[in-house]
Amino acid sequence: MIENTLQIAPDGLWEKVCNLVRNHLATESERSQMERYFPMFVSHELVENVVHIGVAEAIQVEWFTPLYEKPIERAFEELGYPGVSVVFEVSQSRKQSAQLIPAFSPAQTFLQKQTSPQHVFTGVPSTLPLEENYTFENFVTGPSNSFAHAAASAVAKGLGRTSYNPLFIYGGTGLGKTHLMQSIGHYVLDRNPSASVCYITSETFLNEYVNAIANGAMPAFRERYRKVDVLLLDDVQFIADKKQFQEEFFNTFSSLMTYKKQVVMTSDVAPKNLKGCEERLTGRFQQGMVVEIEAPSYETRLAILKFKVKSLESKHVIPEEILKFIAENIRSHVRALEGAISRVITFMDLNKDMPMTLEIIQHLLKDSIEEEKTIKDLTVEDIMKAVSSTYGVTLSDIVSPQRTQTLVTPRQVAMYLSYKLSTRSLQEIGRSFGKTHATVYHGAQTIQKRIDVESDLRKTIENITSQLGRNPSELYK
Ligand code: ADP
Ligand code: MG
Repeated sequence: MIENTLQIAPDGLWEKVCNLVRNHLATESERSQMERYFPMFVSHELVENVVHIGVAEAIQVEWFTPLYEKPIERAFEELGYPGVSVVFEVSQSRKQSAQLIPAFSPAQTFLQKQTSPQHVFTGVPSTLPLEENYTFENFVTGPSNSFAHAAASAVAKGLGRTSYNPLFIYGGTGLGKTHLMQSIGHYVLDRNPSASVCYITSETFLNEYVNAIANGAMPAFRERYRKVDVLLLDDVQFIADKKQFQEEFFNTFSSLMTYKKQVVMTSDVAPKNLKGCEERLTGRFQQGMVVEIEAPSYETRLAILKFKVKSLESKHVIPEEILKFIAENIRSHVRALEGAISRVITFMDLNKDMPMTLEIIQHLLKDSIEEEKTIKDLTVEDIMKAVSSTYGVTLSDIVSPQRTQTLVTPRQVAMYLSYKLSTRSLQEIGRSFGKTHATVYHGAQTIQKRIDVESDLRKTIENITSQLGRNPSELYK
């Protein structure tokens, strides 16, 4: 052994590190995950401020690093070892180093757990339960999601026989990807209860893969996912940068395709934008059907709210103006709409005699509305871009000092929309245009007056507003 090598295990330091890491984990499931994973470390040693943690497979390096690198470093720091960095690496001598494990006790308890029956691979695909109300019937459609909805329903009806294989649904969080994907599962199971429908997140999938490797159970793992009728794989962005796992996934995927089994995937980005993902794989993802779910328009948000009120079977009548207020102010995603409506209903349950007013609602939803502003606030740049593309001028035209009429109108429209749709002050808007706040005010006023008499201009401005995802009625308040 090299002289400056300090074994962690003998003085109990590693045990303390493990305890600290565990204490810092936020949820029970993270802690039980840790109890499964830490025993997979085949060695650990501290050499000159670097903790080398040996693992058996390269995939485990990819998998454990983002999970435990920082928590372990932090634990060392708290134990009086500042500036320590953690490196996961494939252990060169698995057998020899494996003998190190019994030297520290947490691993021993972990090891016993690891061999318990729950980790025996059976070849039966593990599927997460489907959410009961994630059905097509409960999915409200609008321009933002109707294409995705149509594709999903075609897939559910034609299972593996449509050219929509794989179906790849992408879009931001809380826009209904999981809901739509599970609707396919429900549809299939309703008609054929013996169908093998597997819904799984790619995180769980990867998890099982790592476990299968550690347990020498790869054949069973392979078999279990290759005989399903429908594989619903949620959040595939998770496989980014996990090269070895991608390889395995590619094989599973190809085999399902060969047997005309249906694969549905969701992701927060389009296939071509999946980071660190081989082209071979993203290429295959695009061979079926790729659909995007976008943020719902004002009308769809209102329709979703009405649907939710109905399905919550609340005995309260929520005035239309309140629903409109929510739809106008909560724009980013459907989950936030659901949160808002259930907050309103709970409030009404608790305050039966109090009439609902806009002031109360405003107060009740203050936090969500604030949050909304930071998520979805339009920047002056967003607005300038939309305006300049509509008028066919460049961004630098918009901020230039030139006063030709072809530039003045788009510039003033951009000022007007920034004033109406962004939360920036006149001063801030002025800075973006390289003008004073008085110029912005004057520009906005000019447009305000013109749209009263020029219906073409009004139409153009309303279109730009819609393009920016906002309700044109916001302009007239
Ligand atoms: P994602 O997977 O895209 O993050 P989810 O599918 O989890 O989003 O949807 C978030 C919540 O919003 C869920 O409760 C879902 O039922 C609801 N939801 C999303 N889109 C719709 C829709 N079009 N109609 C009804 N509910 C929806
Ligand atoms: Mg989801």
